[in-house]
Amino acid sequence: MTTSVNPRTGEAFGPDFADATADQIDNSVARALAAFPIWSRLSAQKRAFSLNAIADALDSQLEILVELADMETGLGKVRLTGEVGRTTFQIRSFAQALLQGDVIGQQLDVAVDAPLPIGHPRFLRTKTGIGVVAVFGASNFPFAFSVMGGDTASALAAGCCVVVKAHPAHPQTSQKVFDIAATALQATGAPDGVIELGHGFEFGQAVIRDPRISAGAFTGSRSGGRALFDLAQSRPEPIPFYGELGSVNPVVILESAFSEPAALSSAYLDSLLLGNGQFCTNPSLLLIPENSVFLTELGAQLKVREPQPFLSQATMELHGRNRAQLAARSAREVLKGKSAPSNGFFATAEICIFSASEISTFDFLQNECFGPTGIVITYKELPQALRILMKLEGALVGSLFTKELDLPALEVVELLSAISGRVALNAWPTGVAVTSGQHHGGPYPASTSPLHTSVGINAISRFLRPVTFQGFPAEFMRP
Ligand code: NAP
Repeated sequence: MTTSVNPRTGEAFGPDFADATADQIDNSVARALAAFPIWSRLSAQKRAFSLNAIADALDSQLEILVELADMETGLGKVRLTGEVGRTTFQIRSFAQALLQGDVIGQQLDVAVDAPLPIGHPRFLRTKTGIGVVAVFGASNFPFAFSVMGGDTASALAAGCCVVVKAHPAHPQTSQKVFDIAATALQATGAPDGVIELGHGFEFGQAVIRDPRISAGAFTGSRSGGRALFDLAQSRPEPIPFYGELGSVNPVVILESAFSEPAALSSAYLDSLLLGNGQFCTNPSLLLIPENSVFLTELGAQLKVREPQPFLSQATMELHGRNRAQLAARSAREVLKGKSAPSNGFFATAEICIFSASEISTFDFLQNECFGPTGIVITYKELPQALRILMKLEGALVGSLFTKELDLPALEVVELLSAISGRVALNAWPTGVAVTSGQHHGGPYPASTSPLHTSVGINAISRFLRPVTFQGFPAEFMRP
């Protein structure tokens, strides 16, 4: 059973959501499977109409949604208002792409009347929705990476139907978003079952095992994503599983850009502590030239930062375990924020300072400490920083701050691009624009598929299965 808990107070509130029973899970998947051939054969215009209706309906209930999500997540109304806007923008972007007809990318290969290997009949390479997709959202984005987030929106745009596992850290928000989306779909004449929702851990495990499910899309922790990825791959019929996981994101500041300690400290802390550090793109690992003035300034600024709540007790406890592992590494210095309150789900923000020259093992740099904890590594010579970059695992994003793209800067760019899905120049990593040029993913463990993005129009390709028609008449093969 799942009940909402206010992370600011630790108190439960609102209705209980029973875990889905085996029959309910079976019925959800059956409804989605029955809806799939109808939904996938609707014209792109009709699917776009339904997607726009969902976006309009969510926008019309903005205040209620934000109120509910704020009580469940403690993320604050300003941030959550922005997140609803981002979510509906994302849904409308997929609708617009459907209307513009540039989603599928069909290729017509005209017949060539010549001997082999040059000659061949007419081919049309097109794409079709892969089937029913199981979607898992993350605790830290109750809208943009949840029930009607990018995974669901891109799957629906591809003509797929979706079964979503509600996140236990925001069950009421999940249910409300689902009710709004299902009503909007019904009002636009879409079949029942285009989107289904279930609560409880077993719902997620069961749908990924279910032979009627054709793909999985997940945003969340490395451990959860990996467990579900392994389940998806160990089925008698393995399925694509697109996991967007946690990440340790390196930020390198070169000497040329290392000025104005006050402004730099402030910008770093804004990015590091955004949403209480609970961002997959948070600047978890900062590499800077050795500079005591900057560290003094950073310490002074951190001291006055107000503590913010964790999303849930589970997130707070996980952070505590990761923080304890980091503490065992004896940082050169630990800077601390304002003391956290003892009620609710809080922790004091901390930044652990290490010297590059003293680091001989690197495993602790791979462990995402999801919450208000940062690692700063100071280097005397750039090669010390490069040596550390070479040891890092896949990341969602890497940032470089430099005055010019000279040889040392380009060396950093090369190392960052070798491990990251996105490389940002003179910009902090938090903030993922929803646009066609975006790549939100990266080599494992940032994601389980380095080939795909979960943000932007290209996210749709995860749910489109190519199929080629050979030798059909021209009127059939209309791109
Ligand atoms: P989480 O604990 O992995 O949970 C995500 C969802 O997966 C929940 O519904 C959870 O259900 C389910 N789940 C986890 N393990 C499962 C398993 N073995 N079997 C079935 N279901 C399972 O992640 P979270 O705490 O919500 O999110 C925080 C993490 O997400 C951070 O690591 C953050 O960096 C990452 N994140 C990544 C991105 C990105 O785009 N790459 C974006 C946002 C967040 P239960 O809770 O019921 O187990």
